Amino acid sequence: MHEPGYAKGHLVAADNFYDKMMKLSSIKIMEVIMRAFVDPEKCLGCGVCEGIAPDVFVLGADGIAAVQLDPVPEQYWEDTRQAAADCPEEAITIEE
Ligand code: SF4
Repeated sequence: MHEPGYAKGHLVAADNFYDKMMKLSSIKIMEVIMRAFVDPEKCLGCGVCEGIAPDVFVLGADGIAAVQLDPVPEQYWEDTRQAAADCPEEAITIEE
């Protein structure tokens, strides 16, 4: 025959296990990525972004910059942020 406290202890342990599993799954869901976007209505085709982050931004045949890496790999995050900051038309937005 089980003592009342024995069963209660198991319930607490199960709750703790559930909490830990939820935290682990939350960490996986919140994986950080970067996405960059160019507003073609604002872009003047000056090429500043391509000069700063040529692996991320490229000028198309239409003279408008486009993002060629989506999501942006982590090694390009700093240059991508710099390109957005230096864009004279503020045509680049970043989602992180
Ligand atoms: Fe267009 Fe801005 Fe890039 Fe210049 S820096 S090409 S305006 S997105």
